[in-house]
Amino acid sequence: MAARTGAQFLDRLRQHAPNLYVDGARVEDPTTHPATRNIAASLAGLYDLQHDPRWRDLLTFEEGGERHPAAFMVPRTKADLRRIGEAHRVRANYSLGTLGRAPDYMNTNVMAAGMASAYFGAGEASGEPGSGRDFAANMRRYFEYVRDNDLCLTHALTNPQVNRSKQASELPDPYIAMGIVEETEAGVIVRGARMLATLPIADEILIFPSTVLKENGDRSRYAVGFGLPTDTPGLYFQCREPFDLGRDVEDHPLSSRFDEQDAFVIFDDVLVPWERVFLMYDMTLANQAYAKTDAVLHMAYQVVNQKVAKTEAFLGVAQGIVETVGSGQFQHVQAKVSEIIVTLEIMKALEVAAVEGAELNAYGVMTPARGPLDAARNYYPAIYPRLNEIIQLLGASGIIMMPGKADREGPLGAFIEKHLQATNASAEERLKLFRLAWDLTLSSFGARQNLYEKHFFGDPIRMSSALYDAYDKRPYVERIRQFLNRPQPVAAD
Ligand SMILES: Cc1cc2nc3c(=O)[nH]c(=O)nc-3n(C[C@H](O)[C@H](O)[C@H](O)COP(=O)(O)OP(=O)(O)OC[C@H]3O[C@@H](n4cnc5c(N)ncnc54)[C@H](O)[C@@H]3O)c2cc1C
Repeated sequence: MAARTGAQFLDRLRQHAPNLYVDGARVEDPTTHPATRNIAASLAGLYDLQHDPRWRDLLTFEEGGERHPAAFMVPRTKADLRRIGEAHRVRANYSLGTLGRAPDYMNTNVMAAGMASAYFGAGEASGEPGSGRDFAANMRRYFEYVRDNDLCLTHALTNPQVNRSKQASELPDPYIAMGIVEETEAGVIVRGARMLATLPIADEILIFPSTVLKENGDRSRYAVGFGLPTDTPGLYFQCREPFDLGRDVEDHPLSSRFDEQDAFVIFDDVLVPWERVFLMYDMTLANQAYAKTDAVLHMAYQVVNQKVAKTEAFLGVAQGIVETVGSGQFQHVQAKVSEIIVTLEIMKALEVAAVEGAELNAYGVMTPARGPLDAARNYYPAIYPRLNEIIQLLGASGIIMMPGKADREGPLGAFIEKHLQATNASAEERLKLFRLAWDLTLSSFGARQNLYEKHFFGDPIRMSSALYDAYDKRPYVERIRQFLNRPQPVAAD
């Protein structure tokens, strides 16, 4: 099938409705349920974009007589990477960067893991080639399957937040965290839960452990990697409260379109067929899977491009507010907009540096440089609350005093038109902009964006520790040592 259309995406979603639960009831059809129909329609729009003659050549590439989305392209050169990055940015612009799980994020993950499939063949539990337990072949086939059907994926890496001072095996029930129960002829039975999967309306869920699995011994039932359709029997997604309240897009410009949902994932003795198993029991292999396959770098490259698009949206909204209320002559206002510009230029520079420093990895994949991407994924979560704050400081009461569409069209409409007009815009135009500013930073949707930016790539504290551990600091320490020991040349009298 290759690159899907929106209609094909929706058809499959209807036919393979994931086991979603919202407000105590199953979502029978995500394409019509009020909590999910608008995000489903928005994703369909994203799939249609890849068939739009203006974007088709950038968003898809040809291989084997088919066109596939750019995120599945195996980059062999820096030019390939640049092109993939541009496609990521165009796709991110579609939601102003607010869709964290736009399909390309996970698609880059399966591309990198599929190309590095040999890694999964190294495990002690990996079976003979052709046995169905050949995990390397399983990983490679899974990449091809996801690419050839242009599927979108969710993933869930972390264990439930029951007691972070204990290992999963020390909790009151060993299957609070998801783990292997038994092996059967058909596959592996897993039981337990994973904490959080954004975009549970995805076609498939990919399961790998988070990179900080710690158990006694080097074999663990929690060290498991697999991929499953989201409508697999026994697999349930308990969604959080929806932020899409069914309001008009004028009133809730983001939450009415891009509430991608988050769910915790329950595995009630789920059978994972052997051909879908990628990794079992091996803690070292599990803990290093993202790093050693370089999947983390390809995902981070999608992320840095998405954050460029998001920061551009912040800049557009901020400057739009400034022009609307006529505050651009104040120096502190200029300084605040400049802060966003600096953030944008830093993120753009890190994207360029990631490509310039890219190298072919052991699997022949052109892989963006780690340093700039680590910098981006540590920097952006820290700066993001400030971007929010700037919008709120610039918009002030304007981003809360925003009569809605019904108010504008109601009996007080004439007053709203007169008193809420702007320097350069009608009340309607002004209110649309300020509602966007509110939905980006202040609504439930905006607040969740803030939390998402802090955590979606992992705990910021442990990410910075990982950076500290991985970064080669020795040359700089050595330079200082040499400087301190350098004899001073004798000065002329
Ligand atoms: C909106 C949103 C969407 C998300 N989407 C996804 C998704 O799609 N897929 C996915 O896999 N994950 C997703 N995540 C989860 C994300 O990976 C985690 O939030 C992140 O890894 C932190 O884990 P945690 O939430 O379990 O926090 P915890 O690990 O429970 O941390 C809670 C607090 O305890 C501290 N802490 C806990 N353990 C340690 C430790 N060992 N050392 C130091 N400090 C510690 C943390 O610093 C933090 O302050 C999402 C999160 C959010 C908020």
